Amino acid sequence: MTDCIFCKIVSKEIPSEIIYEDDKLIAFKDIDPQAPVHIIVIPKKHIKSLNELDQNDSTLIGHIFLTIKELVKQLGIKEKGYRVVNNCGELGGQTVPHIHFHVLGDRKFSWPPG
Ligand code: 5GP
Ligand code: ZN
Repeated sequence: MTDCIFCKIVSKEIPSEIIYEDDKLIAFKDIDPQAPVHIIVIPKKHIKSLNELDQNDSTLIGHIFLTIKELVKQLGIKEKGYRVVNNCGELGGQTVPHIHFHVLGDRKFSWPPG
């Protein structure tokens, strides 16, 4: 998608601090971090939100979560605990319409979320 911020991060048209990349996904530091560790993990393929996922994406989504499992080790937050968040749609607080998973760590998170 030509006007999607995250697609532009994938194509490197918009610079970002990439911490991991492979042929299917990219992980980069959030520009406005809400915790000492705040990484955004996205598929390279443009998918608007969780609502648009279908059965063909199950391997991709599994790959994203297994990659997060490896990244939290590198980020030093695996044993301390961390939070993985997907905001979906307007009431869910999604501001970028390209599916993404926030990985937040290195502070205590409250529940319920605001
Ligand atoms: P959402 O609110 O859609 O769940 O999350 C979007 C996230 O993307 C926000 O945390 C926001 O700070 C981050 N973000 C928006 N634009 C950019 C950008 O250009 N670069 C980076 N690195 N993060 C961005
Ligand atoms: Zn996109």
